Amino acid sequence: MKFLCVECDRQMQFEERQLPGDGTLAAAFRCPTCGRVVALLTNPMETQLVASLGVKIGGTTIDSQPLETVRGMVTTGRDDAFEDGKGPLPAWSREAQERRLVP
Ligand SMILES: [Zn+2]
Repeated sequence: MKFLCVECDRQMQFEERQLPGDGTLAAAFRCPTCGRVVALLTNPMETQLVASLGVKIGGTTIDSQPLETVRGMVTTGRDDAFEDGKGPLPAWSREAQERRLVP
């Protein structure tokens, strides 16, 4: 899984990964040319799906987890997969953004 900076046509480089421990996953990628940063945020179900694909993020494979429940949920789909109300777009918290701006 890679991210591409459309404007620069450059592959973005992995910068930071966070595993809060509640099953969610956050990963940041930065464009080496313009410095633009994008973040990937998955809910627990998506984190397991990513792990099931053997996808490496930041050079480390996510620990595999039981997927029986996930398979059952995927077939039906869920509209409320993101229950935090922030919508489908990944976003860093204000605290995280401010922290990242400080050298
Ligand atoms: Zn760029």
